[in-house]
Amino acid sequence: MDRREFGRTLAAGALLSSVKRLGAFQNQAGRRLRYCIVGLGRISMDHFMPACKRSRKSQVTAFVTGHRDKGERLAPEYNVPLKNIYSYENFDAIAENPEIDAVYIALPNSMHAEYTVRAAKAGKHVLCEKPMATSMKDSQAMIAACRSANRKLMIAYRCQYEPVNLHAIQLIRDGSLGTIQAIESANGFNERAGEWRLDKKLAGGGPLMDVGIYSLNACRYLTAEEPVKLEGFCTVVDNDGRFTTVEENCGWTMHFPSGAVASCNTTYGASMPGFIRVHGSKGILEMEPAFSYTGIHLKANIKGQPPIEQSVNYDDKEQFLVEADYFADCVFNNKEPKTNGEEGLRDMRYMAEIYRSAGRSLD
Ligand code: NAD
Repeated sequence: MDRREFGRTLAAGALLSSVKRLGAFQNQAGRRLRYCIVGLGRISMDHFMPACKRSRKSQVTAFVTGHRDKGERLAPEYNVPLKNIYSYENFDAIAENPEIDAVYIALPNSMHAEYTVRAAKAGKHVLCEKPMATSMKDSQAMIAACRSANRKLMIAYRCQYEPVNLHAIQLIRDGSLGTIQAIESANGFNERAGEWRLDKKLAGGGPLMDVGIYSLNACRYLTAEEPVKLEGFCTVVDNDGRFTTVEENCGWTMHFPSGAVASCNTTYGASMPGFIRVHGSKGILEMEPAFSYTGIHLKANIKGQPPIEQSVNYDDKEQFLVEADYFADCVFNNKEPKTNGEEGLRDMRYMAEIYRSAGRSLD
């Protein structure tokens, strides 16, 4: 094993033990956090729910769906009793169900606020998908509702719990990269006509709200700074009917208090694999892919050190397992989630500023 391989092995070992530490908490008397899944769509059915199936700390015990037949088909796989299948109309009855501790909200963005507030009123903790909501007002109402019900609210920023992103944070925090000067990031994909993501009423905005948010959030967690100035512009290239209410492309720049600058792009008009590149006075760190469900890869070239290359082998459910279990830890041990409502609200404020400078608006 040469020095480089040895370094890599050491780093991988440290990462795995930090992942284990993250999940190594005492849950109450071996209980699992019992989630009611709100919205049986792609992210819940393909990722979050299968992740809970392999967890010792999280469990799916109820569904909320507009299609009862779908819920009934899925119920045996998760041992969900038929009485625990709710509709959007009778959702509030979850208050009387002691088999539900928390809800996982995986609905179109504009519905997050309503179901978070209703869940909090029903006495349930809330793990809500990103973006938190479609307006600052709704985001504030979500925070207030959970606070007054004394329930936890976490926004599902999975990359903030992902080991390779955590390693990047560590390399920046311990000064290995020197002072951060500039960051470049992009994340996008080619969206199909007919998707709710293209309807501002449901999505709140275009690719910035959906996938650009990963670049925005990463620039903040990598620098541990809050941008003081943001400027953006939005464009439509393909006049094919998809982009009548939301932007097709958004580019923006950010200026941080230290003087570091960032420039980011996002699109719904082309395949744009997510990456991030951080330029420090002592070296360059890049992750590509940076935000995917699996295969996140880090490379760092730091003056005077052997090159670092890092990826951790896990499948497309693992990040959701870590996230679900982390939230269970917060509930059982009365800890405030790292990605709480305030963290979600900060991104909402920055996205509102980007849209405002681009001549658009967040509701
Ligand atoms: P989806 O379209 O696959 O699922 C949405 C669900 O909402 C479906 O079950 C649908 O039936 C239900 N729904 C209820 N009312 C609806 C309405 N009026 N219009 C459309 N659907 C309605 O969407 P998805 O990709 O699973 O995204 C859901 C949420 O998860 C979004 O907020 C998205 O930003 C977020 N998401 C997060 C990640 C991540 O990695 N954390 C990845 C994808 C999506």
